[in-house]
Amino acid sequence: MRFKTIDDMTAAGMLDGKVVLARVDLNVPVEDGRVTDRTRMERIVPTVRDLRAAGAKVVLLAHFGRPKGEVNEAMSLRQVLPALREVLGTDVAFADGDYTDSVKALPPGGVILFENVRFNPGEERNDGGFAKRLASVGDLYCNDAFSAAHRAHATTEKLAHLLPAFAGRAMQAELEALGKALGDPQPPVAAVVGGAKVSTKLELLGNLVERVQHLVIGGGMANTFLAAQGIDVAKSLCEHDLLDTAREIAAKAEGAGCTILLPRDVVVAEEFRANPPTRTVAVEDVPAGWMILDAGPDSVAHVRQVLSGCATLVWNGPLGAFEMAPFDAATTQAAQHAAELTRAGKLVSVAGGGDTVAALNKAGVADDFTYISTAGGAFLEWMEGKTLPGVAALESAAG
Ligand code: ADP
Ligand code: MG
Repeated sequence: MRFKTIDDMTAAGMLDGKVVLARVDLNVPVEDGRVTDRTRMERIVPTVRDLRAAGAKVVLLAHFGRPKGEVNEAMSLRQVLPALREVLGTDVAFADGDYTDSVKALPPGGVILFENVRFNPGEERNDGGFAKRLASVGDLYCNDAFSAAHRAHATTEKLAHLLPAFAGRAMQAELEALGKALGDPQPPVAAVVGGAKVSTKLELLGNLVERVQHLVIGGGMANTFLAAQGIDVAKSLCEHDLLDTAREIAAKAEGAGCTILLPRDVVVAEEFRANPPTRTVAVEDVPAGWMILDAGPDSVAHVRQVLSGCATLVWNGPLGAFEMAPFDAATTQAAQHAAELTRAGKLVSVAGGGDTVAALNKAGVADDFTYISTAGGAFLEWMEGKTLPGVAALESAAG
């Protein structure tokens, strides 16, 4: 994987006095016109800081919500401006169409945010006309939005072909971390895959069995694999129409030399709610009318043992219904072990996925992992082994 970074551009003296169009992720949660979580906004700080320090004027391009190519004031990026100014610690101008004059008015080191790029129908169509109009007000293009890199849109893909293109700091960190986890990882590699359903993660499982030495399957999807072995999972979440698919994945894993680890014991309950009466049983002994909601202590010990023997871990999906106590236990304990190994310098650990990030935060280990991706869809497509158009465009720009 080869792409240019801010350092390459600075070393070549290409930023001083130039206008950089920087695609960023400002799709932050907003309630009653106020930004309620600034995490994504904070991730763009290093890029904006370094571009300004190199003497560039910064034009921020971003989408917000799904306005589907139409102007929709409820999805205006104006509402993130006050928070953005605070997070960046500088004034941020705003333009909603009058691009040329607003950019001309920027002082050196100035920052301007353009209105929601998805108000223009050309954005999601990856339209050359819209991209050219944007390119006409800038000198260079910087992509710092990994989370949008799985989309070939005008500001995530096309612009990289129209202007000298490079990765921002957040994009660079994400690609470097992901490269270490699956691109060119140090073996042995373990993947932990959990979550609700096999059906949403078929491509991911198919890709991983060819790339990793150990595949830990947990969560609801493990039930489908257990059922495929003839185990009665009773009332558990299980995709009975996918038993053949589960057997195919298991066969593919065996052919590729990948060991699949399924739960040995499980925590079961009769109801899907917090703190119901529970039992811990061997997977063969799930009582009729009960459902599997978490992996049991033997299973967790097995996962810990496997992780201890690995150099690299990539993780998506919780091992149980972690939102409800006590079914967060297996996820938390496995995550704490991964965090310990990472802190000791024995493991490179990369995790991602909406619920996974929530589960790791709940376990209090998010800061101890080597890298946590908040990219959602882009992270999953990357785990599926897909080429992300936004990343491919940066690579082709690097020659
Ligand atoms: P991510 O968002 O990280 O990709 P998923 O959305 O695939 O993760 O999976 C998370 C969901 O899986 C959670 O809502 C969790 O409750 C559910 N889940 C995990 N284990 C079970 C289980 N045994 N039974 C039912 N749901 C489960
Ligand atoms: Mg989810």
